Amino acid sequence: ANKIKLGHVHFSGCTGCLVSVADIYQGLLKILDDYADLVYALTLVDVRHIPEMDVALVEGSVCIQDHESVEDIKETRKKSRIVVALGSCATYGNITRFCRGGQHNQPQHESFLPIGDLIDVDVYIPGCPPSPELIRNVTVMAYLLLGGNEEQKALAGRYLKPLMALAKRGTTGCFCDLMNDVINQGLCIGCGTCAAACPVRAITHEFGKPQGDLNLCVKCGSCYGACPRSFFNFDVIPEFESISELIADVLK
Ligand code: SF4
Ligand code: SF4
Ligand code: SF4
Repeated sequence: ANKIKLGHVHFSGCTGCLVSVADIYQGLLKILDDYADLVYALTLVDVRHIPEMDVALVEGSVCIQDHESVEDIKETRKKSRIVVALGSCATYGNITRFCRGGQHNQPQHESFLPIGDLIDVDVYIPGCPPSPELIRNVTVMAYLLLGGNEEQKALAGRYLKPLMALAKRGTTGCFCDLMNDVINQGLCIGCGTCAAACPVRAITHEFGKPQGDLNLCVKCGSCYGACPRSFFNFDVIPEFESISELIADVLK
């Protein structure tokens, strides 16, 4: 199949997601050698205007007071076949829910919106940052979905389904979502990531279990986006080996 056109579109965040892309190391070089042309990335590619892309990895939330950013996200949607919200800022707002251009933190304001509030998003990859492996796998699966044979397309569709469903879930996450979707489902592994991710310390971690204070929670989605079980991919379990083999084949 032909190489796909891959772009990284950068809005408001800490750039940690881009570091996670770079942390794919050899896999990234292989992807860029054989499977994808990086056609847009402000920090890496000297292209100023958003081009046509097959897959756009969008990092960060969008400041709605910044006209250019609002136009850029709309342009990204118009010109991309698959829009991926990369990381918790793009997905839920995350730390940028606290930003208000030099003023005091006021989490209730809506200056910085997750991209799903402005455009239709096809795939969410939450995590702050998402793991390099997950970004790599989604990129490989997007390549197979767009250019693979029928069998590969079907497998890629099954792999991406939970992350596509997440994109339809909405753009907010609070401790109650973590409670409903993870803890009460018996999926919590007691890793403490949610407590470490909470910027207002609304989560304490005692006896191996997170406890949230809903009076303190400002619904930034950080805990939900960072929890490794909030985007647990049940569909992958029975096909784990075939997916691993497929990805290993692509990256050989
Ligand atoms: Fe940084 Fe986390 Fe936002 Fe990514 S999701 S830009 S790592 S704060
Ligand atoms: Fe954000 Fe903390 Fe609320 Fe989770 S518990 S949504 S991290 S404020
Ligand atoms: Fe449990 Fe998720 Fe919190 Fe880890 S991040 S302690 S898995 S709820």
